[in-house]
Amino acid sequence: MTHTAPAPSPAELAAAVPGLAEYLRPATLLNPYAAQPVPGASGIGGPALWAVGAPWPHCTARHPEDEYLIPRSAPVPPTVPTALITLAHLRAEDAPHLPWPEGTDLLQVLWCPNDHDDIQGERFYYGPAVELHWHRAADLAPATPPPPRCSQEDYYLPQPCALRPEQVLDLPDRDELQEELAYAVREFTARQGIEYQRDHGRADGWKLGGWPSWHSTDLVPIDCGRCGERMNHLLTVESGGDPGLCVGRHGELHVFVCPVDVTHPVGLDLQ
Ligand SMILES: [Zn+2]
Ligand SMILES: [Zn+2]
Repeated sequence: MTHTAPAPSPAELAAAVPGLAEYLRPATLLNPYAAQPVPGASGIGGPALWAVGAPWPHCTARHPEDEYLIPRSAPVPPTVPTALITLAHLRAEDAPHLPWPEGTDLLQVLWCPNDHDDIQGERFYYGPAVELHWHRAADLAPATPPPPRCSQEDYYLPQPCALRPEQVLDLPDRDELQEELAYAVREFTARQGIEYQRDHGRADGWKLGGWPSWHSTDLVPIDCGRCGERMNHLLTVESGGDPGLCVGRHGELHVFVCPVDVTHPVGLDLQ
């Protein structure tokens, strides 16, 4: 009878390969499922919350689709601001490893459900614009934002989902490892008869913290457009499943946050 030992967890793998442990990062797998999020709990889509009396945020960018509607000879009309929509509400207790600013306990991820092509500087990006708002939950009340102006049908309109948050440890794609360490990992996993990228390390799916996937472009360093610091992975948005979104070519959207100041504009990358 043959017996296959269970594959090592990221923590066991990190303990077995010297130098790998410093790459372990906490992450929260969100495991969304179709259900109205309970008010006050973490969720995707669902009812809007906002600070009483404060204006709901709008996107003032010109969207590439708008350009097609303008006759070539006509003067370019001013852009019409578009209401952002709620992508997710995330409570601190579900992701204590995120860089919560003092006094905040609820992260609101808003996005503009249209494509944008000029919001990531020189780097190619074509997708929704994302804003992070770090709040104290007690300061928020139910809100009724204006309906979004949306040219992408329902690609970027999430179906409401509740979450089953699961705390894990994540290891990066091999691209992120120093060459010698990547070699040591390859040696070790070959001896174990496992494949690092596929069986180990980075968890897939909707995720807070941890490491992003570079499966379609290889590693692209994401630096802060404001201060130049290398940014950290904050959120993976996955296409399909119960939230029913379609980002990139039915791929993943990664949102990155600046380690110096979480209010610096996010980094965005599609895989
Ligand atoms: Zn926009
Ligand atoms: Zn920055």
